[in-house]
Amino acid sequence: MRLFNSFLLTALFLLAGAVSAQDETDSQKREPGHYNTNRFKQLYEEFSTPNMFRTASGAPGPSYYQQQADYVMDIELDDKNKKLSGFETITYTNNSPDVLEYLWVQLDQNKRAKDSKSPLIEPSDALPGDMAGNFVKNYMGTPFEGGFNILEVKDAKGNPLKHIINQTMMRIDMPKKLSPGEKFVFSIKWWYNINDHVVDRARSGYETFEDGNRGYVIAQFYPRMAVYNDVEGWQNSQFWGRDEFALPFGNFEVNITVPADHILDATGELQNRKEIFTKEMMNRYEAAQKSYDKPVVIVTQAEAEAASKGFSTAKRTWKFKAENVRDYAFATSRRYIWDMMAVKMGSGSVMAVSLYPPESNPLWEDWSTRAVASTLKTYSRMTFDYPYSKAISVSAKNQGMEYPMICWNYGRPDKDGTISDRTKYGMISVIIHEVGHNYFPMIVNSDERQWTWMDEGLNTFTQYVAEQDFGEEYPEAIAPNKKYPSRRGPAKNIVDYMAGDQSQLAPIMTKGLNTYNFGANAYAKPATALNILRETIMGRELFDFAFKTYANRWMFKHPTPEDFFRTMEDASAVDLDWYWREWFYTTDYVDIGVKEVKKFYVTSKINKEARQMMEANGIKESDLPPLVYFVREDSEDFEESMRDVKIEDVKTLKEYIADNIPVEERANLKNPSYFYEITFEKPGGIPMPIIVQLSYADGTSEKITYPAEIWRKNDASVGKFIASEKEITKIEVDPDEETADIDTSNNTWPKRKKLGAFDQFKNKTKTD
Ligand SMILES: [Zn+2]
Repeated sequence: MRLFNSFLLTALFLLAGAVSAQDETDSQKREPGHYNTNRFKQLYEEFSTPNMFRTASGAPGPSYYQQQADYVMDIELDDKNKKLSGFETITYTNNSPDVLEYLWVQLDQNKRAKDSKSPLIEPSDALPGDMAGNFVKNYMGTPFEGGFNILEVKDAKGNPLKHIINQTMMRIDMPKKLSPGEKFVFSIKWWYNINDHVVDRARSGYETFEDGNRGYVIAQFYPRMAVYNDVEGWQNSQFWGRDEFALPFGNFEVNITVPADHILDATGELQNRKEIFTKEMMNRYEAAQKSYDKPVVIVTQAEAEAASKGFSTAKRTWKFKAENVRDYAFATSRRYIWDMMAVKMGSGSVMAVSLYPPESNPLWEDWSTRAVASTLKTYSRMTFDYPYSKAISVSAKNQGMEYPMICWNYGRPDKDGTISDRTKYGMISVIIHEVGHNYFPMIVNSDERQWTWMDEGLNTFTQYVAEQDFGEEYPEAIAPNKKYPSRRGPAKNIVDYMAGDQSQLAPIMTKGLNTYNFGANAYAKPATALNILRETIMGRELFDFAFKTYANRWMFKHPTPEDFFRTMEDASAVDLDWYWREWFYTTDYVDIGVKEVKKFYVTSKINKEARQMMEANGIKESDLPPLVYFVREDSEDFEESMRDVKIEDVKTLKEYIADNIPVEERANLKNPSYFYEITFEKPGGIPMPIIVQLSYADGTSEKITYPAEIWRKNDASVGKFIASEKEITKIEVDPDEETADIDTSNNTWPKRKKLGAFDQFKNKTKTD
């Protein structure tokens, strides 16, 4: 009997909404079918199929391989003529199961060649005016004589190798095909004119200091092997200048010859320190290796200023070795100050290092090396122990660029010595960011040419965590009782971008070159998406374990987006397909609000609405057991006296409890007197958890989170019926602004009144 009744009840109330539609279908036409566009559909169509190289769990598969490129290089800087020349021998090991017919080598410097096509793909419109400097550069100057001059390409025996240069890529045709497991040794001799990176806003080059000396930050300076792998074959997509680099790992032996009065640091371990360092420098260096709380100066400001007065014609060669790095870079000048401190790492320690001209002080002596050290600690906690011996931060005007173990960073005091907050935080943040790139993509070696967000997004997310840690480690660096003022990461900071015209933007899953609004879309949006995932969707414990699992699985390997997406699910048991789809594959945004709130009161008396439903379904009231009815406030059946009805006044309930609940258990029953139907709306596309704060008449409040899956069957609006012992006075969605909701005007019930001019004035004078 009871079963039968509950079946009737289901038929009556749950299917009631379908009644009118059913009638229509019977008498008229059928609705057309549709393609499954459910936002919670799994990503089988977007993802590549798992295979022996990359598993469905997101880990490297049993047949995973990667190529190896080892370099021996002799490099010479001609400081007077701003030229760099080199001779390199590359040993390329084919670890793939494929037979290779040719090799592809990247010639990134050719982006600056006179015949470069990079400027030609940028549309240009007439402007009402231009700066004189730009005018001269664009319309009056002669093009810079940049790009590689390839003098020879030879095999190990010294025989010339057939090669062809297509813009920034050079194909080398080997005398015979390279079988799996085989090595091919060849050499390239080259030189190029070094560019002024301040003028052309390049990722490497020189800047000229006011005293005429130059600071060189040198990268993409040698012909570099392209990546060959199971995903792209040869990654030989041209370097147009926007999306960055894809590089295989290898070992480097590099000898760099510079003027004898230059200071230099580079990727790898210095092999001839005893030859290069004075006794004094050696003593300072040994002290630095034991200094864990503050940097020790190796070359002082006075020494750098003294060296800046000369111009040595003698030469000195700095010899380095680096193991398992994907790239190589160095910085050199006679005007550099040099300091270092030690950072505990696992059972040993690594060095945090800075190179900067006097122009950068006192900002840099205070914060650069400390920021490097702090970054290594946070990133290592979030991923893996830093595996290299050092991380160097080099001061270079307008730069923010990363290489293995070394990066260039902006931020200097104004000429009159003032250091604005903007300059200080900008400098600390860029150092954290660029040092952080050691992890993504230098070690977790994603393909930057294809996916900017995989390094910039993951790195900007971890940068946010590191900035907050830095603020706690060095409270004296920030405003009293404040958190570090992170620009990117917090959900509310992405709202302006997400609220923009999304038809003009591209999803995160877009090749870097084709990305609109690069900074917001490739850095801030993925970083924020990951931060929301950590703080709101998964929670720190699940997120951090999964993120760490990804980093460790792909440390010193080449991951793809799917490897990341799959690992985050695999290690957490949180279905994130909907999250990846919405945040990474679409330009949808978040907007969830309270559409309507209805109040109800309980009674044993049948009301009009219930009676109509029964009639429509051919059910009589007598077919059913006595029901508890809900009467909507302001409906026809509502009477003012119902407001005072207590649960014990409802006859049906009273009888049920008397018959079914043992006396000793009745005290445990809740006693709700207030009933609400809350309808939530979702004008934004992205389904997010509904985080609701309920405030009660007694001044207390409570937070309830409905998981995003509440939207799985109705994408536009969902209802929740709430029984409460206390009267609800306010309902607020996303009270802590953690979901990047772009329009909060619909987040509150009762609707927030717009402040009049007088109220705004009153509030303003109050808070100032
Ligand atoms: Zn970056």
